[in-house]
Amino acid sequence: MPESTATTPTDLRIDLQRIKEDILALSEIGKDEEDRGIYRMAFTDADMRGKRWLIDRIEQAGLKSNVDGAANISGIFTGKTEKPRVLVGSHIDTVPCAGALDGTLGVVVGLECLRRLVEAGIETERTLELIAFSDEEGRFGGMFGSQSVCGYVTPDSLATMSDLDGVLLQEEMRRQGYDPLAALDAARDPDSIRSYLELHIEQGPVLDRMHKSVGIVDEITGLFTWSVWLRGEANHAGTTPMDMRNDAFMGLADFAHEVPRILEENGSERSRATIGKAQILPGAANTVPGIVEFSIDVRDTSEEFLDDLSTAFQKALSAIARRRNLKFDFEQKSYLQPVACSEDIVEQLRTQAETLNLEYHQMPSGAAHDAQIMGRMVPVGMIFVPSKNGKSHSPAEWTAWSDIEAGANVMLQTLLHLAQN
Ligand SMILES: [Zn+2]
Repeated sequence: MPESTATTPTDLRIDLQRIKEDILALSEIGKDEEDRGIYRMAFTDADMRGKRWLIDRIEQAGLKSNVDGAANISGIFTGKTEKPRVLVGSHIDTVPCAGALDGTLGVVVGLECLRRLVEAGIETERTLELIAFSDEEGRFGGMFGSQSVCGYVTPDSLATMSDLDGVLLQEEMRRQGYDPLAALDAARDPDSIRSYLELHIEQGPVLDRMHKSVGIVDEITGLFTWSVWLRGEANHAGTTPMDMRNDAFMGLADFAHEVPRILEENGSERSRATIGKAQILPGAANTVPGIVEFSIDVRDTSEEFLDDLSTAFQKALSAIARRRNLKFDFEQKSYLQPVACSEDIVEQLRTQAETLNLEYHQMPSGAAHDAQIMGRMVPVGMIFVPSKNGKSHSPAEWTAWSDIEAGANVMLQTLLHLAQN
């Protein structure tokens, strides 16, 4: 029998009761008693209280705690060798008025997995590290912790990142006792990490509708967002005949109708496009719209499809502008590369789910996660658990305890496997 089998107890399971207690304890930190939402935005006092709570729990579990320069919190289960370590984590910062599970669940499950190993007296080849990344949710732009670990943060970005109220990240870090420039020291050597795993709520309706406990993510979507302007001519709504107008809003209406066709012809079944924000100017009931400004958010798990969609959207907008006598202009506001999860890890997650007799569904992630940043540097894998009614970023966000237990056991067994090989 190979050594790895002998030291991998396949009957080891997480303790759901402790996961419940941790989720409920953390959900009290930053909770607003009126709207029942959680307000633990990055580097606020509540976020710091959450981090201190986590450090305590890590130490109570018999793990070594660590805080890096980006205020990422780690709990370390030391392996027998110096081989590249296995990371598991997510984030505990929240959006304003959040639910109890986004990010938090992945951290609490990771903690429980490592705590279980300590308790069972198990030895692993590789070191396992729980990590809770700072500012995933984007008070200062998003994924600050994982970007720091991957070395994507620069002195310039550190000096300029600010929140919507103009508060600088570096000011908030200093206020909380951190030296902002120390975030540069959080960068890790890619060779020191074997893989990164993350369990997260799906934040969409797919698993809930399918009645499956576990989602195994194979690809994390990429996206681009644009601001688009169509410029025509503002004119009197009564005196300007219909055939003599350059109505900017009619251009947007034409375009909106073409979106499904463009996706069908140039995208994949994983493509999504959303016009989420639009402004008509000058914005008077009795004036033909002179300018329309709108956003478009386009997602797919393949970079080629994203490129094709970008070209197709530009062509469609130019054609509409010509037809309607408008001027078309756009600016790309953000671009995020799609990331494929490691095939080996996907395979391993499937094996463990099957061994545990769980119904699972292989699926893409339509939302961005720390795994997307980590996936550019090291092999990553993600487990989803169902979100009741697909709800997230709200106090209504919830997942059945039995689904949490299922996902957590898949995580525990997969971590054990990766740490022994
Ligand atoms: Zn999250």
